[in-house]
Amino acid sequence: MIKVTQIEKSKISTIDFDNLSFGTVFSDHMMVCDYKNGQWQQAEIKPYEPFTFDPSASVFHYGQALFEGMKAYKGENNEVFLFRPDQNIKRFNKSSERMAIPEFPEDLFLEGLNQLLRLDADWIPQGEGQSLYVRPFVIATEPCIQANPSKEYRFAIICSPVSSYFSGAVKVKIEDHYSRATPGGFGYAKAAGNYGGQFYPTELAKAEGFHQIIWTDAVSHEYIEEAGTMNVFVRIGDTLITNPTSDTILDGVTRKSLIQLAKDLKIPLEVRPIAISELIEASAKGELLELFGAGTAAVISLIETFNYKGQNYQVENDANSYAQQLKKALTDIQLNRAEDQHQWRYKVQ
Ligand SMILES: *Cc1c(COP(=O)(O)O)cnc(C)c1O
Repeated sequence: MIKVTQIEKSKISTIDFDNLSFGTVFSDHMMVCDYKNGQWQQAEIKPYEPFTFDPSASVFHYGQALFEGMKAYKGENNEVFLFRPDQNIKRFNKSSERMAIPEFPEDLFLEGLNQLLRLDADWIPQGEGQSLYVRPFVIATEPCIQANPSKEYRFAIICSPVSSYFSGAVKVKIEDHYSRATPGGFGYAKAAGNYGGQFYPTELAKAEGFHQIIWTDAVSHEYIEEAGTMNVFVRIGDTLITNPTSDTILDGVTRKSLIQLAKDLKIPLEVRPIAISELIEASAKGELLELFGAGTAAVISLIETFNYKGQNYQVENDANSYAQQLKKALTDIQLNRAEDQHQWRYKVQ
């Protein structure tokens, strides 16, 4: 049982839903659950408010922290849906294991999502590209600066309404110096430090006029891994290719869903490593038809130019693209506009 304390007066009337800046506005309630004395304590849903922690709280020093990112959608009849929440919950606990954080009970996680989304259902904007971004996270809170796993944690879920944004096609730099993740490391986990560590090289790339970085493998820098915080897909000729996941690559829910949808749509698909040399060769021959990132936030983000060692290469970006077909197939399922063959849609109860 989750203890629920409702807000006295909703702040929803003060929000300009037509001008939302991603991740800056939060709904009325949040879920909070603390871990101490070797177990998760009473979970609560309560008004969104600041946290107070001791300056010695472990997370401020050693960064034991991780998160998830998922979206809640509102269908035609005001029904609320999540997309494959079981995948996010499992990944949250996989990340937790790697960061020596106690796993969070799956059933309590799902119950919390249901109750929180029911309570804040008015905060879910309806329509194409509109959703409530759901951000579960966990941080180490023990007031102790010994370099050991914390004995206390806080789990929380906060929600932020987001509207569709058209980012346009982007220019990216293929990074051959800095690395996002290393073999044996924790690149596959949605651990906070993975993101903090990529801001600096990304800022350097932005100063050179790029929007984002395509990360390469840390050992040879010859194979592409991820596009910013998205998994990467490439179309050479008629074939769609994505690289396999590994301990340096995050196992994206969007990626695995697009792989299945490509099969359903009979799009020729290969899952194998992608060499930079192959992209350059294909671009020279005019066969590099598509390049895009895939993730929950933007679904699909098109790349029009990539730069490698100072040289720009073009992507053709076909009008009748696989990206467009796949995005439509995926969002139709998410918004309850298409049959859900794989039982991915989860109706909030
Ligand atoms: C979250 C994330 C993705 C995309 O995962 P989805 O489950 O599709 O949202 C890809 N790469 C990185 C590094 C990520 O953090």
